Amino acid sequence: MRTPARLAIVGALFWLVGVSTTRAQQQPPAESKDSSAPSAPQPAAGAAPADQQNAPATPQAPKPTTPPAPYVHSFWDRENDWLFAGVAAGRAFDYASTLNLRRRGINEVFLTNSIVDNHPLFASIEAAATGASIGVSYIFHATGHHRLERWTSIIHFGVATGGAIRNYALKTPHPG
Ligand SMILES: [Zn+2]
Repeated sequence: MRTPARLAIVGALFWLVGVSTTRAQQQPPAESKDSSAPSAPQPAAGAAPADQQNAPATPQAPKPTTPPAPYVHSFWDRENDWLFAGVAAGRAFDYASTLNLRRRGINEVFLTNSIVDNHPLFASIEAAATGASIGVSYIFHATGHHRLERWTSIIHFGVATGGAIRNYALKTPHPG
């Protein structure tokens, strides 16, 4: 019972292939009839074989049209690697300085003490800030604003590091 079924399937496939090939073969003659008429004079160009050998080299020359297009650096290039590392380091510095500040009994200004005192939550916020900064950089990169892309990291690094330095600079309140 199985073999006749297989034969039927194979037969159907052959029939489909046969139909598609015959259709494909039937179509070109109709088109070639129109195109063959103007192209007929071309074979007469076989007069100078030496020129034809040189000719193929020149048509390939227009390829250099692609290099003149403005060079776009890859997003994860060396500069961004360093800038993102700087942002992450600035955030880690901010994290450490804020915990130091809290240990000395000073209140956190920008976040609530309950968030800062929840160390895993605070650490994830610092990590999210780093990720968001990279995301903003990527949006600038994708939209062609490569200077803003760099400055996002530079400013973020500056603000985070400046805040951390400020945290360490805050004097510990001594009662009495
Ligand atoms: Zn860019």
